[in-house]
Amino acid sequence: MEKNKVVVIGTGFVGMSYAYALVNQGAVEELVLIDIDHDKAEGEAMDLNHGLAFAPRKMNIRAGNYDECKDAALVVLTAGVNQKEGETRIDLLNRNAIIMESIVKNIMASGFNGIILVASNPVDILAYVVWKESGLSSSRVFGSGTLLDTARLRYEVSRQISIDVRNVHAYILGEHGDSEFVCWSNAYVGAKPVKDVIESMEEITFEDLDKIYLNVKHAAYEIIKRKKATYYGVGMALVRITQAIFNNENRIIPISVYNNGVYDCDKDVYIGLPAVINRDGVHHVVKLNLNGEELVKLKASSKIIRDNLDQMEF
Ligand code: NAD
Repeated sequence: MEKNKVVVIGTGFVGMSYAYALVNQGAVEELVLIDIDHDKAEGEAMDLNHGLAFAPRKMNIRAGNYDECKDAALVVLTAGVNQKEGETRIDLLNRNAIIMESIVKNIMASGFNGIILVASNPVDILAYVVWKESGLSSSRVFGSGTLLDTARLRYEVSRQISIDVRNVHAYILGEHGDSEFVCWSNAYVGAKPVKDVIESMEEITFEDLDKIYLNVKHAAYEIIKRKKATYYGVGMALVRITQAIFNNENRIIPISVYNNGVYDCDKDVYIGLPAVINRDGVHHVVKLNLNGEELVKLKASSKIIRDNLDQMEF
């Protein structure tokens, strides 16, 4: 864990948006790209290296193989497979799980003992599969969870009230998927609760909160409809998590984390909750005081994830 070395597995849109953002922000010393299509990983490394003259720091970027994981502090999983014709959601889940299992076997065979961050979807399910397969502590395996959704939420609120997005503190919790929900009871602008903001500003009403939630929930569908995939936002979200790890920030980030009983819902699942992240991974899950309605939503979301895991063959 001495070197700030990251290995990215899957050099598609998401993997390369993350890599590109890492280079632009000078977030790591060493970056290794792995893909089942090794030529693609090589081409991507060449292309990124040609930008180093304009990057904020010296970096070592190359394509590699799984031996490179041995001394990596962080491995980020962005490998993805799409649904085949006639394939059910559970078939896809099983196929994804098999791919993740084989990737994790290769990572662990290298002697890896760092942190694994999962971005591949369905992220909550795959983070669980990766954790089980790796044998690592749950503090060292987590998924990007609802961080991207939370960033979308903050953007939507910020746009509505014309206040800087960095002053909007609010979380999307639960599954990174259709059952996710906004924790409005713990949402603030600056230090002001959203409820008070609504009462003091004409720009936003309680009805707007529902619209904002729907915009966030449908954001991925809307982007995919227009450009077939989403990748810049998640790439930057993954860099934020990377910075929290390498800078030992103890930063609170909503990620897909193992619910160790802090919240009263299915315990044996990975689900989007706020957690404190530092150089060792997840320090602890932050317990928010959810209201009754939010607790019901969290339980329902966690049941959906658990039911999916129960139907899978791994
Ligand atoms: P993509 O098809 O562009 O890239 C996937 C890459 O994975 C390809 O380069 C492919 O060759 C590689 N790959 C496939 N199987 C592999 C294996 N066994 N070993 C190594 N590499 C392998 O897809 P994308 O748009 O980059 O999306 C990647 C994943 O990220 C998808 O699962 C997608 O749903 C997910 N995603 C997550 C979020 C989030 O918020 N967590 C947001 C957007 C996309």
